[in-house]
Amino acid sequence: MGRSIYFFGGGQADGDAQQKELLGGKGAGLAEMTRLGIPVPPGFTVTTEVCNAYYAAGKALPAGVEDEIRAAIGRLESLLDARFGSPEAPLLVSVRSGARASMPGMMDTILNLGLNDEIARGLAERTGSERFALDAYRRFILTYADIVLGVPRDRFEEALGRAREQAAARLGVDATRLNAAELERKVPDSLLDPESLAALIQRQKDIVLGATGRPFPDDPYAQLWGAIRAVFDSWKNHRAQVYRKMHDIPEAWGTACNVQAMVFGNLGDDSGTGVAFTRDPSTGERRFYGEWLPNAQGEDVVAGVRTPHPLSKSGTGGVSGAGGVSGAGGVDDACSLEAQMPDVYAELVEVQATLERHFRDMQDLEFTIQQKKLFLLQCRTGKRTGRAAVRIAVEMAKEGLISQREAILRVEPGSIDQLLHPSIDPSAPKKLLARGLPASPGAATGQVVFSADEAERRAGQGKAVILVRSETSPEDIHGMKAARGILTARGGMTSHAAVVARGMGKSCVAGCSAISVSQGQMAVTLYDDHGHPTDTITVKAGDLITLDGGTGTVYLGAVPTVPAALSGEFEELMVWADAVRRLRVRSNADTPHDARTARNFGAEGIGLCRTEHMFFDEERIQAMREMILADGEAGRRRALAKLLPFQRGDFVGVFREMAGLPVTIRLLDPPLHEFLPQDEAQLHQLSKAMGVPAQDLSRKNEELAEYNPMLGHRGCRLAITSPEIYEMQARAIVEAACEVAAAGIEVEPEIMIPLSMTRRELAITRALVEAVAEKVFAEKGRRVDVRFGTMIELPRAALVAGELAEEAEFFSFGTNDLTQTALGISRDDAGRFLGAYVEAGIFAKDPFQSLDAAGVGELVEIGRDRGRAARPGLKLGVCGEHGGDPSSIAFFERAGLDYVSCSPFRVPVARLAAAQAALAAESSRGPRATD
Ligand code: PEP
Ligand code: MG
Repeated sequence: MGRSIYFFGGGQADGDAQQKELLGGKGAGLAEMTRLGIPVPPGFTVTTEVCNAYYAAGKALPAGVEDEIRAAIGRLESLLDARFGSPEAPLLVSVRSGARASMPGMMDTILNLGLNDEIARGLAERTGSERFALDAYRRFILTYADIVLGVPRDRFEEALGRAREQAAARLGVDATRLNAAELERKVPDSLLDPESLAALIQRQKDIVLGATGRPFPDDPYAQLWGAIRAVFDSWKNHRAQVYRKMHDIPEAWGTACNVQAMVFGNLGDDSGTGVAFTRDPSTGERRFYGEWLPNAQGEDVVAGVRTPHPLSKSGTGGVSGAGGVSGAGGVDDACSLEAQMPDVYAELVEVQATLERHFRDMQDLEFTIQQKKLFLLQCRTGKRTGRAAVRIAVEMAKEGLISQREAILRVEPGSIDQLLHPSIDPSAPKKLLARGLPASPGAATGQVVFSADEAERRAGQGKAVILVRSETSPEDIHGMKAARGILTARGGMTSHAAVVARGMGKSCVAGCSAISVSQGQMAVTLYDDHGHPTDTITVKAGDLITLDGGTGTVYLGAVPTVPAALSGEFEELMVWADAVRRLRVRSNADTPHDARTARNFGAEGIGLCRTEHMFFDEERIQAMREMILADGEAGRRRALAKLLPFQRGDFVGVFREMAGLPVTIRLLDPPLHEFLPQDEAQLHQLSKAMGVPAQDLSRKNEELAEYNPMLGHRGCRLAITSPEIYEMQARAIVEAACEVAAAGIEVEPEIMIPLSMTRRELAITRALVEAVAEKVFAEKGRRVDVRFGTMIELPRAALVAGELAEEAEFFSFGTNDLTQTALGISRDDAGRFLGAYVEAGIFAKDPFQSLDAAGVGELVEIGRDRGRAARPGLKLGVCGEHGGDPSSIAFFERAGLDYVSCSPFRVPVARLAAAQAALAAESSRGPRATD
């Protein structure tokens, strides 16, 4: 371990902004600001290494650290001409956590440390305010007792209430009929007089003695050791652990601990505290934005008891002269820092400009004003919405602060989902109901319905509905279309509900195991923060719920949403991204409508058209069922002839939308039983239409049932037993291609065989497709280029890719099935246990969402190498859900694939992610000669 303590103060600092790993974000920021000559109260940072050593030693500070801390306190004392533990010139400190990544509010902070009775008296004399000194002291005891001594805050509430009542009596306020909140409003902390405060302090100490059996520690050093330990301990508190899991922050990072001389924002009306952003974190607008509270300490701003005032007067605050705080005016203007303390405001504006220029990114600042003197307490890269991220990145590049490449790298691809879908209003109150998988982003509110027909009926009456199902099947498609959002109890990230909702750009929460759906209602188990069930509530048809498909959250009632809005900056960023990316981006689209959406989002072709999705409209499903249940080839062919015009019509539409771009059409893939009648009524309807007794159909239905349909009679296996299905589809594709080409529109059809595992399967299906194509060319008197290829979805296919490439002109890795088959985990059942796998750290992320690079990724690489060795120039793509996942896209870039294909609404995300992956690959190869 290196040095344990990094000092900052007096214009010098041991550390700097580069040392976030060691000093945490806060410590690194304080060091850098000090170096820049910005007014920062001096202090020191105890490193993250000390935190890790503390845990390694069973929660003991390493030898020598206490001595280093005493020496650092000595430096503080001489810098400030004050003494830690001395009543004459008391030095008080704050002790705060600060990890490498910001974890707002997750860990602990202690202010005003270093007080006891005697020192509080000294502080009163020194500041001339007994009230102030006692207020600081009682706040310190409360926080310290809560955080370090484990005496919960609420144990002190009654004592505080009594102090307020005493103060009320002195002020002549009748407190008898006021509840606690009203009393606090009538007698805020600033009106607690010294006598009430002194009595309160004594009572607080009695409570500590009663609860811990020991008096409150009087020795400032004892207080300091306790506080530093508590900050380190808070790294592993429950809420910090939950936050880390949510944000992929490794536990091994540890937190640093910052000990800093106190400055006081509560020393009167010429003091105050506040927070500021160098640009608007919600819109990205370039204006200085923030709030402050006069005569207050930081925790008052957070507590929300008093409403903070704006920093700038309305119409100003635009550092570039652009924009400003709109509309506030009047009282707010008069209370603004700009009006109240113009000099301090001017200094703050200068400081924020310096910091933004220096860090070259939007900064989030915390400051305190002590008797008209400004101090910065924190500076870090500010969190922002997706919309703000795009605007800030583009504008900073135009201002010359960052390069276009940096702008591309600044925007987290997942965050631009917010721009493409409505999102939950972050400031709206909400009641959490349950959590599931974030299957398809966007917010949606509506009445709960439990069947697709009901969804369609109510939507037809103009109602917004959310379709709630145990899981969806292709038969629910009309209900999914009609619904605003979809919620399922079972199924994972590649379940039917998830895939279809993503394709439609609809909000979907899947695999929400807290709900169970039966008999027209949904029972929801509620859980506490620790994951223990607390209650069950029932949601009925017609009740309102809101989904946040981006986070997988379900809320009770209607939560206001903010509409999607694509900005000019977004388009600009996309143009920059397209200029640097190597990977092509196609889309998975099954209808002309989806194809158009995809093209509008910048898709460069269709990477997967799932033909089975075209069979679910009322007229078509009937013919499909006839085909499946027909006895013998002749019956099947009759039914297929009915389907042919529908298929051809769809393909014509898709080819037209994708004029000039490749369209990969996959022949029928799913097990046939998915199309079968689901209930008696459907069975009877079909029996009538086919003129076959219902009993016979029912028997056939049972015969087709499989134990494990995902590994059963599906994919190209269907064509080996019933070639007429693929023949009809091939005919529909080639006829459509000829028709569109005849209209002078360029077509690039690609026919793709699913689930192949042997060369022979491909040879048979290829011969079949080619024979049909030749027939159609002869009939139409024209030829079009039709490419033939296969999906790689089975480990065997990846291993024998060399043989498959002899028959296939392209491969598309179907990573949904490849994940399922490589891991031996059923896509449909994974939702039940994969959450626990991620929680236990067995997988870093759901492998159906983010590619398992070590396993499935290696199969992709093997398939690539063997395939290209057999057929140089073999075109390689990906059409599993991973094609729209940024970290998987980074893998596909490194693997040198040609394109990814994803649902239409993920196309912009994939374009940006592909650009970032290209830049990352470039920087790992070293700078270009032209840079
Ligand atoms: C896949 O398996 O990755 C794929 C794209 O096909 P499907 O999801 O339709 O099985
Ligand atoms: Mg598949």
